[in-house]
Amino acid sequence: MFDPRALRADFPILERRVHDKRLVYLDNAATSQKPRQVIQALARYYECSNANVHRGLHTLAEEATEQYEGARRKAARFINASGPDEILFTRNTTEAINLVALTWGRANVRAGDEILITEMEHHSNLVPWQLLCQATGARLRYARICPDGTLDLDQVAALIGERTRLVAMTHMSNVLGTINPVGGVARLAHARGALLLVDGAQSVPHLPVDVRALDCDFLAFSSHKMLGPTGVGVLYGRRELLQAMPPLFGGGEMISRVEEQFSTWNELPWKFEAGTPNIADAIAFGAALDYLSALGMEAVREHERQLVAYALEALGQVPAITIYGPPDPAQRGGVVAFNFGGIHPHDVATVLDYEGVAVRAGHHCCQVLMRTLDIPAAARASFYVYNTEEDVDALVEALNSVREVFGSVAGRPL
Ligand code: PLP
Repeated sequence: MFDPRALRADFPILERRVHDKRLVYLDNAATSQKPRQVIQALARYYECSNANVHRGLHTLAEEATEQYEGARRKAARFINASGPDEILFTRNTTEAINLVALTWGRANVRAGDEILITEMEHHSNLVPWQLLCQATGARLRYARICPDGTLDLDQVAALIGERTRLVAMTHMSNVLGTINPVGGVARLAHARGALLLVDGAQSVPHLPVDVRALDCDFLAFSSHKMLGPTGVGVLYGRRELLQAMPPLFGGGEMISRVEEQFSTWNELPWKFEAGTPNIADAIAFGAALDYLSALGMEAVREHERQLVAYALEALGQVPAITIYGPPDPAQRGGVVAFNFGGIHPHDVATVLDYEGVAVRAGHHCCQVLMRTLDIPAAARASFYVYNTEEDVDALVEALNSVREVFGSVAGRPL
């Protein structure tokens, strides 16, 4: 098990002060901070090896290509894909999911077919399916959540029918923290001839994810939520599926042969990477994967399970707080969304910021879920490898300042 206090030395930003207070960064579900190793990989690439990939025969081009493709191999190993050709670099999770909707979806989904998602989806795994359904005449269906914020697998099973082409589901909710049993859902989907796409934006950074053990067909995730730079995401797809899918963008690199009236496509994964890719950020993402692999994803998960258990206990003692999601830390990842005493979460977050505590507030790109929970918004603390119990204590302490600032709400003392 790693020592989160020791790790903090790798993250220069954690040394800074906010409103003259120690920065307590609890907005990791939005984006994580970056260790020196990642920042240096970015600088090293630009200082030593900057060149375009795949096309050049000179030394720098070969180095850049080797490093870029090396990052792809690391990503493949990280999720146990059967090869780097199953890893497509995109801009982020959102683009990865849209890629599936626009290519696989347009080729395979017809009027009357069904796409099944859940009420807890981020807009990234909801709006692309709305667009696909609107374009094809397919029907978008929702699996409802139980009162404790978990999914009802029996209901999911009942909703997967003859016409279901795809189940698209988050592995871990960015609001409730719920970890969904996607391996079980893959079995249900496959038994009825449907595919499973997993939104791994919140799971891949925080738990061991093995695409072959889960038997999912697609998995999408973002570098910036797992210690890497912004601007790089991954779409994992099963090789046979990717081979059968048409490309999304046309241009350089994605072709094999170009005639006047038609073209043929490059091999995987380059068929889906038209134009110059985000070389530097992908290489630095490789450094983030090295960093997480050295910590061990089992250890990352255990650290966050312990921290969430501590946070649920500590926040649970705060009067007038409502915490969302499953009460059992074994069923949830490192996010705790809450509302406090009827105060608007934006106000809560603003006062917390004055105490140096960075949390997010709003609908968290989950407006359908907010409606189910019957709230307009929530505040959210989310943890990562460098967070400690002292950070949770600082949050609880800062909530006392919120209480002092607001005193009472609707005539009732807080
Ligand atoms: N899915 C989930 C569950 C998320 O939490 C997020 C980001 O917060 C996304 C998708 C979208 O990620 P990105 O903005 O990197 O595309």
